[in-house]
Amino acid sequence: MPLPGRSLTSVLLRREGELLLFDCGEGTQISLRRLALRWKKISVIFISHTHADHVTGLPGILMLSSQVERDDPLTIIGPPRIREYVEASRRILDMYINYEILVKEVWGEGVVHEAPGYRVRSYPLNHSKPCVAYALEEDERPGVFVPERALELGVPRGPLWSTLQSGTAVTLGSREVRPEQVMGPRRPGRKVSYMTDTALVPGAADFVRGSDLLICEGMFAQDLSDDAVDKKHLTAAQAAQIAQGGAVGRLGLIHYSPRYTERELKGLLQEAREIFPKAFLTRDLQVIDIPYADS
Ligand SMILES: [Zn+2]
Ligand SMILES: [Zn+2]
Repeated sequence: MPLPGRSLTSVLLRREGELLLFDCGEGTQISLRRLALRWKKISVIFISHTHADHVTGLPGILMLSSQVERDDPLTIIGPPRIREYVEASRRILDMYINYEILVKEVWGEGVVHEAPGYRVRSYPLNHSKPCVAYALEEDERPGVFVPERALELGVPRGPLWSTLQSGTAVTLGSREVRPEQVMGPRRPGRKVSYMTDTALVPGAADFVRGSDLLICEGMFAQDLSDDAVDKKHLTAAQAAQIAQGGAVGRLGLIHYSPRYTERELKGLLQEAREIFPKAFLTRDLQVIDIPYADS
């Protein structure tokens, strides 16, 4: 349940001007307003599962459309019944929607969304309803241009350098110089994973492997690990195990049980940090930069 100062679960990812929303708990539109973000920049909403604390904000977000013009379609991706939820909400609430909504139901492992520069994969979790994790993976980036190599190969400083940097070969008389001859090795893009509402599942660490940032449920402290198993949720320590196993950069805990006070959350964090030191507690409206690992 939402608490004053602790909203329900929702993560917004901003990448090159595009907004991607992961889950949409009650009141998400208020957070969007507080962040002064333009909701029409949201191109895709990824839903983990259809429990109320992850979807009750969705109708409000869809109805914001009556306030702004929107030309691009909105895609909603989630496990089975998300289509029914969206359609029933539209119908019963008589929503005025002046843009296209595309709903895609997913259940299992695979690429669920592709766009220039990145793709998003899903992974099936183990919860009391079909529930999936998501990982956004950027394409590899070209290697660093090495001017000395270009000069050695007789390519003069100037426009030919930019041609090579953009990945196109250049011709010097009868000789061709290819980009890979003047560039260092290709560099990885970034990866961000989002996993919540699940018992520990095999393959979780592999799915999030190499993420620069993992946002993962840390609902309970270890003394309630039996409750976590019964209710199919993760403890903060289990989130840390996944982060450790997947060698992620940082772990942001989310989806805390409302039973915990702010002081008690520090205890959850402590349990996580004993396993994975780069864990932190995510907070409402917190903004987290995700730089390239090599920058
Ligand atoms: Zn749930
Ligand atoms: Zn939940």
